[in-house]
Amino acid sequence: LGGEVYINYGLNEVGGGIGSECKIHKGYHVFPSVHVEIVNPKTREPVDIEEYGELVVTTLNREAMPLIRYRTGDMTRLIDGDCDCGLKLPRIDYLKGRADDKVVIGAAEKYYPINFDLLFDPMPEIKDYWIEISTRNEKDALLVHVLADKPSKKLEQKIIEKFYTMDSIKIDIETTKTLNVPEVVFIDKLPKGGKRRRLVDKRKFLK
Ligand SMILES: [Zn+2]
Repeated sequence: LGGEVYINYGLNEVGGGIGSECKIHKGYHVFPSVHVEIVNPKTREPVDIEEYGELVVTTLNREAMPLIRYRTGDMTRLIDGDCDCGLKLPRIDYLKGRADDKVVIGAAEKYYPINFDLLFDPMPEIKDYWIEISTRNEKDALLVHVLADKPSKKLEQKIIEKFYTMDSIKIDIETTKTLNVPEVVFIDKLPKGGKRRRLVDKRKFLK
């Protein structure tokens, strides 16, 4: 009872840990299987050591799918100098904040998962869905994965029309031309495991 508590820091996407505290309790030592970078979230350029920025991780551990320069959305900084515990593993500070689940699509509009729930909840034909956000032809692209009992061309069309009922979506497709017409793909089952996400932002991978 009452053993000392060491806090770990991890992400579902990494399939486990990024780092762990030591007995000194000054940030997390980064595990050897993980490479970290801290970048300015706007410019994506590396920041100076000890300066806060967004944590970008590369992991090549075997149990999980490798992640290459994955933007975690977590704000932290690299701690300069060696730790008093003697471990030579690099340290990152405790997280300063978390980019929330909102995503920016098209010209500048921010969307939350609830925006799309409101769109599709009134449609009993749709049992579940998730949206993959990527870039195509230098515009944002939405691929809607839909779980439905009776997939049909008609349902596909109805879903696309639903998007057009959101003014900001319609404007970005037709006027600002920052968004492609959303596409629909019907699925048999939802992806397994991990935290279920409505919005999966593939643009989060740095090139
Ligand atoms: Zn230490």
